Amino acid sequence: MPRCHLCHLDRELRNSHIVPEFLYKNLYNDKGHLMAINGVGSRGWAPLQNGLKQQLFCENCEQHFNNYFEKPFLERWVRGKPLPETWNDMEFVQWATFDYSAFKLFHLSVLFRASVCSLPTFSDVYLGHHEERIRGLLLDRKPGLHSEYPIFGYAVVHRESHKLIEMVTRAGKSSINGHRCWGLMYGGVQWWISVSSHRNIEFEKAGLQPDGRMPFHAVPWDEVDVIQMAAQALRAVSKK
Ligand SMILES: [Zn+2]
Repeated sequence: MPRCHLCHLDRELRNSHIVPEFLYKNLYNDKGHLMAINGVGSRGWAPLQNGLKQQLFCENCEQHFNNYFEKPFLERWVRGKPLPETWNDMEFVQWATFDYSAFKLFHLSVLFRASVCSLPTFSDVYLGHHEERIRGLLLDRKPGLHSEYPIFGYAVVHRESHKLIEMVTRAGKSSINGHRCWGLMYGGVQWWISVSSHRNIEFEKAGLQPDGRMPFHAVPWDEVDVIQMAAQALRAVSKK
């Protein structure tokens, strides 16, 4: 009997999505928009096709992910639409409020899935000893300290239309201010998680706050490369 990657029990495994299926929905409804983006050049952030699945978790753990992390994110982010669809003023910073624990754990759960799977698309995602720590947080439904795995994100918009780009990409690795950061794009935002044993003060200040508030700055999709993009967006948010 195979072993579940979350509870570590020998159980029959379900075919698990890496990025939840509901985050692909808008892509199919807005194909013209997405194709326009591909024409611009994605700087290595290849869009993902739906259907990336692997047998990773048992039925209980799939339900655990679904009930505690995915449903709240679907409700608050996808249905709640906390960001403007079009960023008319590129200097504008949108603040939104979330349930800190569920919101942080959702993003950690996507990164965790990418880390434990063996799909070639996510083969470069390696969290080292942090994988076990994150597994514990997900199992216990504890978000950890604010200084642990802080999350920062910026809205990614089309250069001309300033419309949100809701594509899903593979994971990207970056070193921001000396911290290992993992980036994944879904739901119109490039999310960065600092996976480091040292405090990433800039992320703590400019990202998700302990009271659940989070600022979002917009960055045109094709403007700068990934690392510059993150640094620039961090500075823009920190100034406000
Ligand atoms: Zn399990």
